[in-house]
Amino acid sequence: MTTVTTQAANGIKTQATTRDPVIEELNFPDDPDNLYLQTVSTMLGAADMLDLKHRVRIILAQPKNEVMVHFPVRMDDGHHKLFKGYRIQHNNALGPYKGGFRFHENVHLDDVKSLALLMTMKCALVRIPFGGGKGGVKCDPRTLSTAELERLSRRYCSAIAPIIGPEIDIPAPDVGTTPQIMAWFADTYMMSNEAGEAHDGIRVVTGKPVEFGGSAGREKATGQGVADTLAEMLPGINIPVQGMTVSLLGFGNVNSWGGRILQDMGAKITAVMDHTGAIRNESGIDCHALAEHCSRTGGVKGFGDGAATGSGGGTSTGAEEVSEEDFYRTKVDVFIPGALEQMVKAKQAEWLDCKVVAEAANAPCDPSGDRKLTEKGVEVLPAILVNAGGVTVSYFEWLQNKTSQVWDGERVDRELNRHMVGAARRTLAARTRLGCDLRSAAFAAALEHIGSVYKVRGIFP
Ligand code: NAD
Repeated sequence: MTTVTTQAANGIKTQATTRDPVIEELNFPDDPDNLYLQTVSTMLGAADMLDLKHRVRIILAQPKNEVMVHFPVRMDDGHHKLFKGYRIQHNNALGPYKGGFRFHENVHLDDVKSLALLMTMKCALVRIPFGGGKGGVKCDPRTLSTAELERLSRRYCSAIAPIIGPEIDIPAPDVGTTPQIMAWFADTYMMSNEAGEAHDGIRVVTGKPVEFGGSAGREKATGQGVADTLAEMLPGINIPVQGMTVSLLGFGNVNSWGGRILQDMGAKITAVMDHTGAIRNESGIDCHALAEHCSRTGGVKGFGDGAATGSGGGTSTGAEEVSEEDFYRTKVDVFIPGALEQMVKAKQAEWLDCKVVAEAANAPCDPSGDRKLTEKGVEVLPAILVNAGGVTVSYFEWLQNKTSQVWDGERVDRELNRHMVGAARRTLAARTRLGCDLRSAAFAAALEHIGSVYKVRGIFP
């Protein structure tokens, strides 16, 4: 086992373990760029700090079930195309598998496995009674018509229907999937089950439209959780939310909501980048206007023309277009990566000029980026804490469906805040106790909970 120790400017040490004995035992391929290897290494590094039992480590090092499906979809021109989909069920020690599914051209088995493992950790950290799962279909939803997208969503649901269920595995939205897709998914599941189970079928998926069993506050939940986490953690780092400057990588569900909520709390969003380009305005970008612009045009590009008008009372209408490097180099208090995995490598981390990185996306920093940020003394708030708001409100949606209740938005926000604050404090307490970085602390706080459940449950038989 090789342990790399990095010491930050603030004296905090981070330990990255390569080729852990469990990784050797399970014969993982030796590819340092492999996201699954990176994610398992982080988890095992935290397990080392806790003396977690070997049996729990090997269980958590691989998913319980990996399901791969291929299914044909009729395209609008009449020809059929074959798609590949996945559903990974990582661990269900705490409750049913829970996790979103994404539609993206780069969906791969190991990435979905990583995201499923992160879901197990996230649910444990926020203390909701769910395990971890994740799914996806390799496709580019932007190139599909609405009718093709509906047929694809319904075929994916019917392909994985035998292994999911309201008490077994509950999908939700992720990159490239929407409340409308969740509605088609629930409808397909209900139609393919016994009539008596139809009502219960609503609980098979969360993130549905509000009129079809969705929860108030679910669409903005992940962004709200990002804001709740920052409000709880930043005062300890001497950054007041009121007046802080922020840059956003990605402006989809998570960051468009996070940006709007933070702006309404008094933060100034000065740079935004998505797949269409990067924009900057040192006086502040109106995220409400930008969200309207993106829903009209598909991305942030063109907002620089100053044509956008918004209702959010932001500080400006428009921004200049900048290069990717200039986007990263924008001096801000907080940088929020909320796009895809592994986008912040050593080069981007070197460019960054910020005090805090709040990981709204899953695994946005690769190990080289993480090390560089630590060397620079940047505080990294880990994804399993920062973006846990989505799954938390998904749990509320599932609970409301199960008990035939309808919570109002205020109750959802209040309960969400309670879970987010609890998870943030658990992470800070673990850091103090273990003397480690926040990522290891968050994993350790999650693993302690899972380890204690395995201790009382035992391992069958
Ligand atoms: P989304 O599809 O709504 O948005 C993704 C964003 O990433 C878009 O703005 C897109 O333009 C941007 N992007 C894609 N490729 C890019 C590139 N090469 N350069 C710059 N930007 C790029 O997805 P989302 O739901 O907002 O999810 C974002 C992240 O948050 C993912 O890691 C996801 O797993 C995670 N997450 C989502 C939720 C949720 O509730 N949606 C919950 C927890 C975590």
